Amino acid sequence: MISAAVMPQPHRPIELRTFERPVLEPGAVLLKTLGSEVCGTDTHLAKGQLSGVPYPIIPGHVSVGVIDEIGPGAAPLDVDGRPVEVGQVVTFLDVYGTCGRCWYCTVGHATTRCPYRKVYGITLSADDGLLGGWAQYIHLRAGVHIVPLPENLDWRAFLAAGCGMPTALHAVTLAEIDFGDTVVVQGAGPVGLSAAALAQLRGAGRVIVIGGPEVRLAAARTFGADTTIDIASTTEAERLEAIRDLTGGRGADITIEATGVPAAVPEGMRLTRDAGRYVVVGQYTDTGSATFNPHLDLNRKHLDVRGCWGSDAGHVYRSVRVMSRYADQFPWTELISAEYDLAHAQAALDDVAAQRVVKALIVP
Ligand SMILES: [Zn+2]
Ligand SMILES: [Zn+2]
Repeated sequence: MISAAVMPQPHRPIELRTFERPVLEPGAVLLKTLGSEVCGTDTHLAKGQLSGVPYPIIPGHVSVGVIDEIGPGAAPLDVDGRPVEVGQVVTFLDVYGTCGRCWYCTVGHATTRCPYRKVYGITLSADDGLLGGWAQYIHLRAGVHIVPLPENLDWRAFLAAGCGMPTALHAVTLAEIDFGDTVVVQGAGPVGLSAAALAQLRGAGRVIVIGGPEVRLAAARTFGADTTIDIASTTEAERLEAIRDLTGGRGADITIEATGVPAAVPEGMRLTRDAGRYVVVGQYTDTGSATFNPHLDLNRKHLDVRGCWGSDAGHVYRSVRVMSRYADQFPWTELISAEYDLAHAQAALDDVAAQRVVKALIVP
């Protein structure tokens, strides 16, 4: 029997349940889980803040495991086109079932908006099997995008960056940072920290992180942020003044929002210079509205605002490559504050929700 941590409904405690070992279909893979991340999305799932979630679910959408079994017939190919092998350490894109045929997949070139996509740990039900990472084994159905981890990339480091890394990589790509740019990152959670690191790799001249609490700001400085500003002890006017002081009165060339707080968006528009660029990636759940002045904050400002939703196999693939190449430069594993077994998954969720830890891992 296989154990898994199951979220039965919003506002109900995590339960330990047992599952039969699945019979694999051709093209499928059974992963023996090494670890799975706990992220802010899981706390939103626990509060019922995402729509279309088929509870009960096994949470855990970014995971690493060892290939334990391959379904009958030819082994599936990894993203590089090589057949996967038993014993390989791999991660996978949590998004499954992107159709490749709909308007968004073909004409719009925006696969993250494909209406058929399902996400491991979020929009796949535990009633349908081991389709989330908080389990001893994960059933990778035929067609899941598999990315092997290079030998020099510690799986804990990969999970410490977690889903924040491909998300930030997508946002930083959209931000089109130029050499020497001043980049403001709003938010010092996993997405913000990864964005701060990636901004440096894209040639930013200065990286400023606005957020909190202090444990996260300290992590941002460890990851190379030049300046951190504590959101709790400053007013919006003070933050605006601080950014203008650092940029010759203009504001940031690029601002990346990674907070999840609606009020951060109009503030981010104002922190950005005229004709600068603003990428919004942190508003993943609906936590309300914010108002801005269309004349002052957008039109006359000639501001380029971009929304960024989800990530695709390319973002995960590039994350693995970047983390492998720059593993020494950014101390990802230091972000892991705690590891929990399946029986303590609820404690992991509570600690992440209360921001007592920067990054928590489930290690079955
Ligand atoms: Zn599609
Ligand atoms: Zn996540």
